[in-house]
Amino acid sequence: MSTPKILILGAGYGGVTTACELQKKLNHNEAEVTLVSKHDYHYLTTWLHEPAAGTMPASRAQIFLNEIIDKNKVNVIKGTVSNISGEQQKVTLEDGTELEYDYLVIGLGSDPETFGIEGLKENALTIRSINAVQKIKEHIEYMFASYNSEPERTDYLTFVVGGAGFTGIEFSGELVNRIPELCREYNIDPSLVKVYSIEAAPTALPGFDKDLVDYAMNLLSSKGVEFKINTPIKQCTPDGVILATGEEIKSKTVIWTGGVRGNAVVEQSGFEVMRGRVKVDEFMRAPGYENVFVVGDCALIFNAEGRPYPPTAQISIQEGENVARNLKALVRGEKLTMAPFVPNLQGTLASLGKGEGMGIIFNKKKLFGLSAALMKKGSDVRYLYKIGGIGMVMKKIRL
Ligand SMILES: Cc1cc2nc3c(=O)[nH]c(=O)nc-3n(C[C@H](O)[C@H](O)[C@H](O)COP(=O)(O)OP(=O)(O)OC[C@H]3O[C@@H](n4cnc5c(N)ncnc54)[C@H](O)[C@@H]3O)c2cc1C
Repeated sequence: MSTPKILILGAGYGGVTTACELQKKLNHNEAEVTLVSKHDYHYLTTWLHEPAAGTMPASRAQIFLNEIIDKNKVNVIKGTVSNISGEQQKVTLEDGTELEYDYLVIGLGSDPETFGIEGLKENALTIRSINAVQKIKEHIEYMFASYNSEPERTDYLTFVVGGAGFTGIEFSGELVNRIPELCREYNIDPSLVKVYSIEAAPTALPGFDKDLVDYAMNLLSSKGVEFKINTPIKQCTPDGVILATGEEIKSKTVIWTGGVRGNAVVEQSGFEVMRGRVKVDEFMRAPGYENVFVVGDCALIFNAEGRPYPPTAQISIQEGENVARNLKALVRGEKLTMAPFVPNLQGTLASLGKGEGMGIIFNKKKLFGLSAALMKKGSDVRYLYKIGGIGMVMKKIRL
């Protein structure tokens, strides 16, 4: 029998973990493993709010694939997937290249969910890649610089963060930390700068414990964030946002963090999806395809109460580990020893700017302030160690 071809799409948390685990688990020539991704680097999506606000260089959130992937065991192709054919067992890239597989792992991440809000796609910025966050950082700086030549344009100094969920809160925390530095640099009165955090749901951080939500909101309010909760954005224009209340906030900077859906390529390829995510079976396989696994934000899994797990890096990594384990069993002809995926949630921690955070660990213990920020760093350390050893930890982690 010829060597099975394993094709992994996307070098995010799910895809990279699958690739790194397979290079550890499989012997030479047991399988031909290929990782395809848009860029020749992996990025730490969970850190992107920091380079977006300009509080961390974007390069720190970037890990070149040749630093973590053993090219003797995994082929890396830089390319953009445009179509997946489950029937023909073939993936097509934008440049026309066709790749065949015996086993496929889809880990293409997410696209912004705009909930049909008019003008959002065209006029808002999103925190979703290294290039996108560099653009956000440069835009913010450009707004401060532009205000100096047009001091009547206070809309240049008004920043709207759409969505006060996890990403929106983390970004707002970084932004308000950066503003004093920008005001000094551009000689601008800090009281002229406005940061709005706008949320459609009746609370910020939906799904979080009330004490944690209160802590985050009080801290960010004290640093200048103005919350508008229970206030859906109706329209986004080149000049700002119009809220469902009729109020208009004039701003040249709208950052949309209000939600994600699975990568559009998956739906466009004909897979059955809910909000772009494939409802996978217990082994993370797409319905109807025993050889197509889906990990990360493209996959939809449910808890015992039948509620979907929110898409997180934590779950993506665990899914990647599970899929690699099961691929090893399949490659070795041990199909019956495949293990179902069972998430092992360690908690959720959000950063609120340098040295600040909040969250919950071991599903019950609440953490606030520096202890939460340090605990969050701890989980970053574990991930970096897993994919790149101690060298990668030393290179990326700053206390
Ligand atoms: C600012 C921010 C903070 C967050 N904080 C946390 C946190 O603290 N904890 C947590 O658990 N989760 C957090 N999340 C969520 C978490 O980042 C995601 O759930 C996680 O990144 C999903 O992993 P993934 O492997 O599915 O996709 P991603 O990590 O998004 O990676 C997808 C990969 O696919 C590539 N790709 C995309 N399209 C194509 C294509 N067509 N062809 C080829 N390659 C493609 C991309 O370039 C990327 O490399 C945060 C998210 C954001 C934005």
